[in-house]
Amino acid sequence: MKARAAIFREIGGSLTIEEIDVDEPGPQEVRVRTAACGVCHSDLHFMQGNIAGPRPTVPGHEPAGIVESVGSEVRLVKPGDHVIACTSMFCGQCTQCMLGRLHLCTDRRPMRRRKGERPRLSQDGQELFQFADLSGFAELMLLHEKALVRIDDDIPLAQASLVGCGVTTGVGAALNTAKVTPGSSVVVFGAGGVGNSVIQGARIAGARQIIAVDIFPQKLEVAKGFGATHTILVGPQNPDLDPVKEIKKLSQGGVDFAFDAVGNATLASQCFYALAPRGLAVIVGAIPRGQTLTLEPGHFYVEKMITGSIMGSNRFHIEAPQYLELYRQGRLDLDSMITERMPLSEVNVALEAMSSGEVTRTVLTFD
Ligand SMILES: [Zn+2]
Ligand SMILES: [Zn+2]
Repeated sequence: MKARAAIFREIGGSLTIEEIDVDEPGPQEVRVRTAACGVCHSDLHFMQGNIAGPRPTVPGHEPAGIVESVGSEVRLVKPGDHVIACTSMFCGQCTQCMLGRLHLCTDRRPMRRRKGERPRLSQDGQELFQFADLSGFAELMLLHEKALVRIDDDIPLAQASLVGCGVTTGVGAALNTAKVTPGSSVVVFGAGGVGNSVIQGARIAGARQIIAVDIFPQKLEVAKGFGATHTILVGPQNPDLDPVKEIKKLSQGGVDFAFDAVGNATLASQCFYALAPRGLAVIVGAIPRGQTLTLEPGHFYVEKMITGSIMGSNRFHIEAPQYLELYRQGRLDLDSMITERMPLSEVNVALEAMSSGEVTRTVLTFD
């Protein structure tokens, strides 16, 4: 079936909107008509060459839509169902899956078509690769059923799409990776889509103090709406301020949990130094290749810890409906996460707005 899609061909290049062919669903596959797809930093990282992958590719990995047709063995969803998709699909058989860490699954092959099979996406017979095995920047998606979770029809699809990556990454980093405790103190570097999701996760967990750090004053104002109790402006507008000192002062000696939601070695080390004894620093953002993280080892004497967090250590099929229930109750704010909506044709504008750092989230919406 024909569909319009944004295609990525050259590192550093922009996306072009072209017509592609989306194949019929195989036995465990689902074809979904895309309703919305959030624009996430990982799309940009991929287009800049920081995340490796084959090309030409259709990016986009934060989608929601309506099931159009399903393969013969699909049992989880049916045509007409509203769904969100997440890249954290799992084989169920590797060691990490067996340990219950589905988001760290090491074998994605069962969720892909085999070499030699007809590609899911193509153009004039040439394969187009699926970024994150999803490709949400397209009117139609062809996905393995394990990528999908059915959601209730009353949840708006633009808001729901955010749960496919950014919200799950941030809220999950607070609730699953860090296990933020009630009454604790937290700092979050970066108040964009992921950072504000960490802030919301910390608020839901009952943190007493949530300090947001950013270089844009307007983003710090927005962060207060999501639950930040204190803010620190850093960067060119406040060059003399040492964020670690400021955090230690506000938290009276250091925070229990620190999150780098930007992905930057300097910020990651500041997270570590801002910790109280036994505190945990969590690297949520993707630190670009080539940067090196240097830490003074003396800090380990007070049992400080540092860890990565990928996709919020999620179990998507359990947590996505929970997050949407929290949304329905007004406890997880997805409405304010959406800064702007744009059509697919403006995807390059949306990517540009994100790289300038001034938006929380842009969502592409489809008619
Ligand atoms: Zn993402
Ligand atoms: Zn696995």
